[in-house]
Amino acid sequence: MAGRICIVVGHGKSESGGYDSGAVGFGYHEFKIAREIAKFAQAELKSAYGAQCDLMNYNGDLYLQERINKLKTDYYDFIAEIHLNAGGGTGTEVYYCHTDATGKKYAEAIAESISERFGIRNRGAKVRLNASGKDFFGIIRATKPTAVLVETVFIDTETDLEKVKTEAGQKACGQAIADAIARVRGLTAESTETASEEVAPTPAKTIDVEYQAYCGKNWLPWVENYNEKNSDGYAGVTGKAITAIRAGLSKGKIKYRAHTKGGKWYAWISDYNTKNTNGYAGVLGKEIDMLQMTLEGLPGYAVEYRVATVGGGFLPWVRDYNTKNSDGYAGITGKPFDRLQIRIVKI
Ligand SMILES: [Zn+2]
Repeated sequence: MAGRICIVVGHGKSESGGYDSGAVGFGYHEFKIAREIAKFAQAELKSAYGAQCDLMNYNGDLYLQERINKLKTDYYDFIAEIHLNAGGGTGTEVYYCHTDATGKKYAEAIAESISERFGIRNRGAKVRLNASGKDFFGIIRATKPTAVLVETVFIDTETDLEKVKTEAGQKACGQAIADAIARVRGLTAESTETASEEVAPTPAKTIDVEYQAYCGKNWLPWVENYNEKNSDGYAGVTGKAITAIRAGLSKGKIKYRAHTKGGKWYAWISDYNTKNTNGYAGVLGKEIDMLQMTLEGLPGYAVEYRVATVGGGFLPWVRDYNTKNSDGYAGITGKPFDRLQIRIVKI
């Protein structure tokens, strides 16, 4: 079947223009996980099945009505909006338009595929109607193509969240969705021979940093590099003091240490691990007020970082560190911070 597919990310932008995280579970945001799953689904449909497939709302730049408005034509013949469920259940379910037999086929195939991939309950293909007997979800009711809404797993059920909180899990979920869509469309996976002919990857010109903050009782999602546009651009939650930090690089090593409020500088951490206290800077539950970072074995590069104090804005960027003056660390003595940004720069 020819025709175009659109994989749509649910949430991201609220009607008023602010950030809409969707459901939140254990510090994870529905939008942030859904968009990665959607990205992998699109990539798989294009690369493995040669399908024409677009990805919509990855950056959270379209609120629901804007997404619907773009999908009122038959430019696409099939759309799937990706969500995570909430409310304390378990398993996967997929909604379709109550008058669309094709939609039902897609919904059944996707639910079965995710359920099998993760070994979780298949809650099945479902219809949800509003009080006037129309389809409840706008993305299904008010758009032109065959549409489904995929509730991949429950974000607020730990065993479900486990499946999709890592990049590998998000990829597996995206592929499960893509495989199901391809099956309904009669697409078969293209030979992988062309893939192996790809030239060797060129060395990265930039170095990416990934980092994560601990506040309350949870590690928050990993952040890659930074931006000044949305909450993907920093680690932390406004108003909640950070008590531990982990960071790693795409190449080379980053070293960092934290000073607790009213306390002391703790040992330097090199890179990170997720197993013990050598794997992060800080002490879980003790507010950090100062932070130092530097790179190891990366001539020509420097780390820059800055923090925002609780109740305040971002302080100036700090490059590397020194032990001489207040340019040598991020933060203000005695003031906890709630947001952190890190970037690697060429010098
Ligand atoms: Zn949702």
